[in-house]
Amino acid sequence: MQYFSIFEDAFENKYYKVKIMVETVRVKAIIIFLIFLFAVLFITSSSYAQESTKFRTVVIDAGHGGKDPGALGKTAREKDVVLAIALKVGNYIEKYLPDVKVIYTRKTDTFIPLYKRAEIANKNDADLFISIHANYISNPKIQGVETFALGPARSDENLEVAKKENSVIVMEDAYNTKYEGFDPNSSESYILFEYMQSTYLEQSTLMASLIQKQFRERAGRKDRGVKQAGFLVLRNITHPSVLVEVGFLSNKAEEKYLTSSTGQTYIASAIFRAVRDFKKQYDDKNVTEQPVPDQKVDKKKDNEIVYRIQIASYKREIRKGGGIYKKFPDIYVYKEGGRYKYTTGKANDYNEIQKQMDKIKKKVPGSFIVAFDKDKKIPVSEAKKITNPDN
Ligand SMILES: [Zn+2]
Repeated sequence: MQYFSIFEDAFENKYYKVKIMVETVRVKAIIIFLIFLFAVLFITSSSYAQESTKFRTVVIDAGHGGKDPGALGKTAREKDVVLAIALKVGNYIEKYLPDVKVIYTRKTDTFIPLYKRAEIANKNDADLFISIHANYISNPKIQGVETFALGPARSDENLEVAKKENSVIVMEDAYNTKYEGFDPNSSESYILFEYMQSTYLEQSTLMASLIQKQFRERAGRKDRGVKQAGFLVLRNITHPSVLVEVGFLSNKAEEKYLTSSTGQTYIASAIFRAVRDFKKQYDDKNVTEQPVPDQKVDKKKDNEIVYRIQIASYKREIRKGGGIYKKFPDIYVYKEGGRYKYTTGKANDYNEIQKQMDKIKKKVPGSFIVAFDKDKKIPVSEAKKITNPDN
């Protein structure tokens, strides 16, 4: 028994040694794997971070649909007009901005609740949401286009547009609970928009103004301006979003225009161009916000610009300590065109040398500023482009 147990001990000892060795190898393998995993994660996450700053996704929302026809003209229905325009806008984006993904809230004549439209935008992390609508008002003379960002309505007119567009929720199931008792037809309900500070108001307003600019300048529509009102469809969207009213179906001429293929093409291409311009500004802004400080540092490394003030020029060299050296303790000499040129002062910034110049001018009225890049003389105008580009 004794022997047996010793044997067993020895056996177990050996067994554990092997086990420890195996464990060590396994731990090493795990560490290497983890390092590899972190490297992969780091690389993919950093490239993702760069990618995500670009404008990638737009949601095109054709208002109304299905059992909800929207505004009714003499013959036209809002849901048909806006769907035709929405599809055209999407087509242009897909054709001319192939790196942008287009998502439609509806591509057919179907009823989509307002909250669902916002969900579609948020789920797809859309960079922009455009809701397309047509207007209706009792006065048939009124016409024109307007684009809204989410915010408190500053006029009864704007509030009326929001009320009309929001009233579709009564057709939705359980709208009372879905919209927390919001009554689209009661002005009191809209107080909640008073205190709502949209994070994306600036970008939404920019998009709205780009659309209005295109409508006005390229499509020749009557510009009713960029506005704000409390639209439920925009309320929960966590990205820049606008609601476009492309014209009044209550106006005979506009109804005709909006139902014509030409009119729809003009309106759609105007919205498309606004998206293109918005994308450009969005991408540019997000690019310049990132690595530019480094580039500036690099520039300064490449160029060592020094400004000095030239005070004299002689054919012969002046002995150090004599003549001009007595008046100016810090003299820098350079040779140009067979002459010795004497400078004083020193600055890396043009405004700074200008200050020094004001003092020197009193002693040497004919003095002037010269610039050097790594001791090579360059035109002052060139140097200023590098050191003081804003001047
Ligand atoms: Zn509408």
